[in-house]
This record gives sequence, structure tokens and C-alpha cells, in this order.
Amino acid sequence: MNHNRRLEKTIDPWLQHRYQLKQLPDRQAIIELQLQALRETITWVKQESAFYKQTLADIEPQQLTDLQAIEKLPFTTPEQLAQNPEGFWCAPGRELVRIVSLNTSGTTGPKKRIAVTESDLERTIDYFHAGMRLLVDASDRVLNLFPSQTPDSLGDLLNRATMRVGCQVMTPASPAEEQKQASCITGLPGQIAELAAACQKPERPTDVSSVLLSADFVSRASVRSILKAWPGCRIYEHYGMTEMGFGGAVSCFVGTGYHVRETDLLIEIIDPKTGQTLPDGEFGEIVFTSLSSRGTPLIRYRSGDYSRWLTRACPCGSVLRRLDRVGRREQTKGSRS
Ligand SMILES: [Zn+2]
Repeated sequence: MNHNRRLEKTIDPWLQHRYQLKQLPDRQAIIELQLQALRETITWVKQESAFYKQTLADIEPQQLTDLQAIEKLPFTTPEQLAQNPEGFWCAPGRELVRIVSLNTSGTTGPKKRIAVTESDLERTIDYFHAGMRLLVDASDRVLNLFPSQTPDSLGDLLNRATMRVGCQVMTPASPAEEQKQASCITGLPGQIAELAAACQKPERPTDVSSVLLSADFVSRASVRSILKAWPGCRIYEHYGMTEMGFGGAVSCFVGTGYHVRETDLLIEIIDPKTGQTLPDGEFGEIVFTSLSSRGTPLIRYRSGDYSRWLTRACPCGSVLRRLDRVGRREQTKGSRS
């Protein structure tokens, strides 16, 4: 496959559309666009967020002369977000169309509350649309196992993105039956692995040619189970969290690592003990800064998830940087360090 043909199967054409560029962006263009978005975000949160007005009082956006300058800014922790969620909200109340409540650790204590605007939701649907186009086209039938009854929930946004591709979306009333008709299945790794286990002996060859695993850590056992039920299907993995606006990074047809949604997120890998940025290739905690969120932009947010940068260019040709598979600290230590 030549370079341009390969890129058609990546998310990069979407980057060009999203940034309204005349050509596909190169790495330098992404860095410059991220720096501009970072300065705009800092300006926005200093103006609108009660929390950042205080913590970033001494920071001026024009001091950020390159992306590394972000290391001068303080971290934001999940505990700070839970203690005073409204202090992080930026857009006026009438523009906040949805508020999502999340536990911090365990089920007790204050909850993190993320407020989003209509434009935040649209950017997420647009990103999911670009991601789903890697898996499916208008001729596909997609079984989405994520709950989608709540408007603007992850499942609902994914359904809307999938319909935008033109696919038929199947609601999971009886997944074991519906998977016989589906050509793509999306859901939590555990959900899909469970369905796969129930379908280990298909009565007839299935049409399932792709699977998207999202919103949870992906175990090797889940992958094995899925490939046994639907031999030859292509497995895509997505990493994201609600605080990121659901979407964070997605794998490509090469299947190694996740290309980061760099239009909307600036990601750093830090040493969780010292807070220092780690060299590329070393495992550490994922810290992210929102580059486009209007409702609840977060600056250097400690995700509690662990990964590392993959340093080699991806054979798919995408300019977007890749994270290795994501895990919690214990899992990362056990399997990868
Ligand atoms: Zn790739």
C-alpha cells in the first residue's frame, strides 16, 4: 500500500478537516496548533474558572513559548475536581447541557462533576465518527452494547456517530441473537468477551469483521476469547475517560498502541512520585490538558492511568503520537516495566 492509500485508513484526513487545512498536517503543524490551543485554553480558564483563576494567577499565556513550558503549571488532581466541581466549570450555566457525576475512588465521598456544552458534545461525536469510519462503512450493521438510553451518554454519542457514517445501528435487546446479523460490535471489553464466550461455537460463519473495545482496560484473555468466537475479525481499542470528553486515543489497523486525539488533548507521561516528565518510552502516569473543552477544561489532570509513548513511527503513516496499551499502576508494573 502506498503512503497516501495507507493514510486513507487513518484518522489523519479528519485532522485536515478538523483544522480546516489545505493539506494533511505534518508533525510540526500539529505542535503549532496545539500550542495555540493551549494558550487559548489558559486564557479561557483564567477568565472563567474560579479554581484556575487562583492556581494560574501567576501564569500568562504568552509565557508558554513551547509545549514543554506546560511543565511550569501545577497539576490538577481528581480530589480537587471532586471537592469543588463548579469551580472548574467555565461556560455560562445556560450553555452547560449535561452534567456527568463520577466517583473518585470507591463509592463514598464527593463526586467529580463534569459539565459539558453542546459544542463539547459535537466535538466528541465528530471524533467518534472519524474513529468509526476506520472500522465500518454505510453497508455495515453495528451492534452497540454500551447503554445508550441516557441522552448524551457514551453509548448514545457512539450511536449518533455510527449513524453519521450511515450504518444500521442495532440495539442490544438480545445480543446473542443480534450478533449473528452484526458486522461490527462495540462495547466494554468484558461485555464483548462475555458475548464471545457464549458464541464460541457459531452455528454458521458470522459476519463480524470488526470489534471496538472501549472504556475499560483490555485483557489478553478478552482478545483471545473474541478471536475464537469471530475468527479473523479486526480488533480496535479505544482509550478515553469522561474527563477527556470520553474520547482519548484509538488504535489503527496496525493494532499496536493508540493514536492520541491531539486536536483536543495534550498528553504528558510523568513520574507519579516526583511529578517530573519522563523521557519518551518510559512508563509513567498519563496527565492530560484539555485543548478544546468549553465546559470543564482541565489543566495537567492526573488520570491515574499508566502508559508510555511509543517512539517509532507507526506503519500506518499517521502523524498522531501513539501511547502504548493503558493500564492501572499495578497492571503496568506487572506486565510491562
Ligand atoms: Zn497507526
